[in-house]
Amino acid sequence: MTSEEDRKMTRREFLCEIGRYGLVLLLGGGIGVLLDRDGENCINQGICRGCGRFEACHLPQAMSAKEAMSRKQQ
Ligand code: SF4
Repeated sequence: MTSEEDRKMTRREFLCEIGRYGLVLLLGGGIGVLLDRDGENCINQGICRGCGRFEACHLPQAMSAKEAMSRKQQ
């Protein structure tokens, strides 16, 4: 065997490589989504009233406003 023939990939090796790179991309995407969720940023300078993200927002300002609103309703 020559060195070039040694470098040829079998179909099984090729599919394993694709699976491996696919898994790496999937994990990278999942980590990116998690980091983005943790890195939630305020889009309305902390003025929660009328903010379009208020219902889904978990930032301290929004949580405080939600708590205040629920106290008012009681
Ligand atoms: S709801 Fe969230 S994003 Fe909107 S102003 Fe309040 S803290 Fe900022």
